Order: sequence, then C-alpha cells, then structure tokens
Amino acid sequence: MTTGVRMGLRLGFDLDGVLADFQTALTTACLEDGGAARPTSSSGDPSTSELKHAWRRIVRSENWWTTLAAYEPDQIARLYALSRRHRWEVFFLTKRPTTTGDTVQVQTQSWIERHGYYLPSVATVPSSRGEIARALRLDLIVDDQLIECTDCVSASAAKALLMVRDPNDGDSRGQALSQGIGVVSTLAESLDVIERLDTMVHSKSGALARLKNWFSLATAGAPVLPMNPRDTRPLPSRSGAATSDSIDAERGRRGGGSGEGEKAEH
Ligand SMILES: [Mg+2]
Repeated sequence: MTTGVRMGLRLGFDLDGVLADFQTALTTACLEDGGAARPTSSSGDPSTSELKHAWRRIVRSENWWTTLAAYEPDQIARLYALSRRHRWEVFFLTKRPTTTGDTVQVQTQSWIERHGYYLPSVATVPSSRGEIARALRLDLIVDDQLIECTDCVSASAAKALLMVRDPNDGDSRGQALSQGIGVVSTLAESLDVIERLDTMVHSKSGALARLKNWFSLATAGAPVLPMNPRDTRPLPSRSGAATSDSIDAERGRRGGGSGEGEKAEH
C-alpha cells in the first residue's frame, strides 16, 4: 500500500570498531590489570591469559560500556541529523557482554545519546548480523568485521560496508570488495556513501533496482518533532555512568508529572 509518505533507508550500525574505540579500551584494561607482567603473544597482542583477566575486570566495572571513547564523536551527531533529514531508520547493533551496572542496552543508549544522537534504538543481539538484518528488513549495515558483513550479504537482502580503519589492512579491503562489500575507513566516509545511496535510491537511477520501490513523494514542510525531542537530556553523571540517584530522580519526576511528552515538543 502506497501511503504517499517517503520511506527512508533502514540502516544498521555496529558499535565497537565503528562508533566506539573498543580496542583501546580493552588494551587499557589489560594494562590496568597488570597485563605487562604476564606473557604476551608472539605478535605483541594481549595473550589469552591477559584477555581473560581483563574481561574479568571489565565485567566487574560498573557501566564499563559508557566509558569508551568515540572514534569520531561529531559524526554520531551528524548521523542523527542525517537520519532526521532523510527519514532513515537507524538501529545500533551489538553483541557486547554484560557488565555490572545497567543493562548493556541502557549503557549503550546513554553513550550514544551523550554524543548527540537522541532516542537511539539499540539491539543487543547475540545472533548473526545476517539474521538480524533480515529480521529488521535492513537495507545496509556498517560493521568492522568481515565475517559479519559476509554473513549479512549472504543471509539477507541488505548490503554491507566494511569499516577498515587500518590503512595497511589491504587484505580485508580486497576480500570485501571481491564479495561485493563496500569498504570505508571512517564513519564520516560511511555517512557520505549512505547519503549518495539515499540520493540514488530516491532518484531511481536504476543502479539499485532492488530498492526501487521506495516512495518518493516529497515531505517538505510536513510537521516533524523537534531535533531535540527531550525537555532535558538524561546525561550520565561526571563519572560517565548514570547513578542510582539520578535514575531514581528521573523515575520520580516521570511518576509525579504528566505531559512530559507534550513538553518535549516545544
Ligand atoms: Mg565491531
């Protein structure tokens, strides 16, 4: 049924390696855990023993996932602006293990929102990217693991962009391109590519026949919610994690008041 409303691309973004610098955080956890005193692997990477100890430390660290650095923090806010402008539906996908504190989903939502992306949809899915891409009817995913991209294009109708941040990693680039998987080196570049894809889909250029059924009626001037849909932002505490006090205060505020949603529209 054609509603006359333009539908946007449906996009899936992996968290670690794409938005968040998980590798540096893991390396830091290994060092903080006294990893230097344990034998490292021949490649110089953390050994199995070091990783095991680091993970023990991580799962005990309250809201550890909120402490990671963003590779390109401004691009997360840009993704939000683009998703609103082009009516993209964005899902953040992760298989992060649980830590103490809030759920992985809440920690991840808090982290993404802190970087300027409001109301993020976070799916904490342990299954394969292909399975989730098919279930969510995604058009494209961005992931830093070739195996996830391969699974995605073979098990769903979605296309994939492999994030290769290492300029010397020619092998991954070659393997991805040979399978019809696009390669980008930054989040900024991936957003450029997706914007071009959006234009191609809506201009029905023929290059993306599978996606030709997207509707193209203009929605210019249609009423939309404000760019900041919240009356206040649920920022984490100074330590980077939401405290039980702040959560209780938020619950109390919501429980005691009404019309918060209406206020958010001003
Ligand atoms: Mg990843």
